[in-house]
Amino acid sequence: MANCSAIRRATRTPYKTIPMSYTTNFASVKDQVSPEEWQARLELAATYRLVDLYGMTDLIYNHITLRIPGTEHLLINLYGLLYKEITASSLVKIDLEGNILSKPETDYGINYSGFVIHGCIHQARPDVKCVLHTHTRAGMAVSAMKCGLLPLTQTGIRFVGHLAYHEYEGPAIDLAERERLVRDLGEHNAMVLNNHGLLTCGPSAGEAFNLMYNLELACQAQVDVMAAQAELRVPTEEVLAKTAHLYQPGARRPYGVLEWHAMIRRLEAESKFSGYPPYSH
Ligand SMILES: [Zn+2]
Repeated sequence: MANCSAIRRATRTPYKTIPMSYTTNFASVKDQVSPEEWQARLELAATYRLVDLYGMTDLIYNHITLRIPGTEHLLINLYGLLYKEITASSLVKIDLEGNILSKPETDYGINYSGFVIHGCIHQARPDVKCVLHTHTRAGMAVSAMKCGLLPLTQTGIRFVGHLAYHEYEGPAIDLAERERLVRDLGEHNAMVLNNHGLLTCGPSAGEAFNLMYNLELACQAQVDVMAAQAELRVPTEEVLAKTAHLYQPGARRPYGVLEWHAMIRRLEAESKFSGYPPYSH
């Protein structure tokens, strides 16, 4: 059998270079979309920036989607941009089947697996407006542990009885996996994608972000605790159940709503001199 260098010598076909437009200087679409869509674009662009600000990005990978209120249309990132480059006008509008309805003038497209993972959740769960997926180091670490997320900290205990798990099936490009993703998520708003990463969703971008922030923090604490190899302290079943209940959206307040305004203030203050366009462009 010929090895790779032999094949290269035999074919001698130079790699074709097709001129592509990868500029990121997008025109504003504020005046071309409904006020509801523009608001959704602002929220989603801010969420991408917050995921970056809180260290939960993976180069250009991963996705966050937001449903445009009153429609079956979703907003998603252009595949190829850093999260810190994403603006309201750079977002792509797609339908639940993954068809692109509008996008900026650019050769960047969307990541198909983003639609596979997110589209089915939006389709099956009308209560969900935003779906967020990450590949953080701590999230991936816990996703590879047979024990899953342990109730070791207050931040982690809130997920007791409220965390789903989905078996790894390879890169999410198989449409048949969508049924199993939806089945495994059930009524939960947080899911560990085994050997892969984390997923959260919620009735708003702020709530989905807040849940991801907490899930991520819980994973980081678990990894630290387990690395320390100390004997683990776990509260009683009664305390676990009570704590988990008190952190559910209906019990006291919807987490992520009060926090959102402070998140936006931090984002706006810290991105002023970043050199990147404001998320609100
Ligand atoms: Zn992924």
